[in-house]
Amino acid sequence: MKNTFKLTTLFNIPIDINYTWFVIVGLVIFTLANGYFPLAAPELGPLAWWLMAVISAFLLFASLLAHELAHSLIAIRNNLPIHGITLFIFGGVAHMNREPQSPKVELKMAIAGPIMSFALAIIFYLITNLLTLFHFSTVFFSITTYLFIINFMVGTFNLIPGFPLDGGRVLRAVLWHFCKDIRQATSVASTIGKGFAFFLMAVGFLKLIGGAILSGIWLLFLGLFLAEAADVSYKQVVMRKTLGGITVEKCMTKKVIIVSPQVTLDALVDHFFLKLRHASFPVMEDDMILGIVTLHDVKSVPKENWLLTTAKDIMLPIGEGFIVSKDMDVINALAKMASNKIHRLMVVDEGKLIGFISQRDIVKLFEMKSEIG
Ligand SMILES: [Zn+2]
Repeated sequence: MKNTFKLTTLFNIPIDINYTWFVIVGLVIFTLANGYFPLAAPELGPLAWWLMAVISAFLLFASLLAHELAHSLIAIRNNLPIHGITLFIFGGVAHMNREPQSPKVELKMAIAGPIMSFALAIIFYLITNLLTLFHFSTVFFSITTYLFIINFMVGTFNLIPGFPLDGGRVLRAVLWHFCKDIRQATSVASTIGKGFAFFLMAVGFLKLIGGAILSGIWLLFLGLFLAEAADVSYKQVVMRKTLGGITVEKCMTKKVIIVSPQVTLDALVDHFFLKLRHASFPVMEDDMILGIVTLHDVKSVPKENWLLTTAKDIMLPIGEGFIVSKDMDVINALAKMASNKIHRLMVVDEGKLIGFISQRDIVKLFEMKSEIG
């Protein structure tokens, strides 16, 4: 999930916001200011309704973040690294590189989010009652009532037993505990997840022809998203299971083709990119890696300047992001490529370049292993 910007870091976890998230924030503010608050507090004017809508949207955002943080902190406490939380149009997601090590850890982690949402619902419910008891203005308790309802709904929706929703993870943990096979457990839980996704799409479709355009479209897209997520997460489990424990060294290409920093772009294109058809080449001088030159960077230079520009002028200086150690798991190497948006990594051992590993190498190995079974 790209197109995000970093908001902040909490408990050492980077919190990112996907641009699609603004769509939901806008929708929430709009519907609250035009629907909910005029009904809940009719004596106030539009200005107050909009202001209350913004405050409520902010608190809703904080509640969703708390839900994801609850998952993440339990994961971290159980030695499962979380490398970020992203908030997007359908809520939030905590990113992890591997599956939980046991059904027990999965269960604890999965249930933490809904528990947080229900706890927040109870807190907002109690605050609402206190505010009513002490005769506070409707301004306050109409906001807290909304947050009570919405947190309750978030908790309930996530408990639906379709993977990758939290309830689906709980189901997977239970199945995994009994059948001792995470792949099979995921298969069942994600099939139910897909079933639920199709149900949402069907309801969305009926709403759409019934005239409820916005909620119809919303449910259709939510269903599509969940169906896709169920599919992807199942494939991920299969991939992790098939490739688990395989190191970069066993999968890398040992033949390394390097280019000198002085080579011109003209020669680079003719003798390297067109001939060998790799997307990037390391730039080396006297056994030292200086950087990496990619086809993308070559293309950013106008053709008439290719004879005057050298690899050194346009290369990306070597950084941690391009390098991988030979002992790293291929799954982690794949995750590193994905998060750095590159297709190949240099394998470096004691300062020396010993090979290359590409997405293609890993996918090929996966296909081969799956075929053999
Ligand atoms: Zn959750």
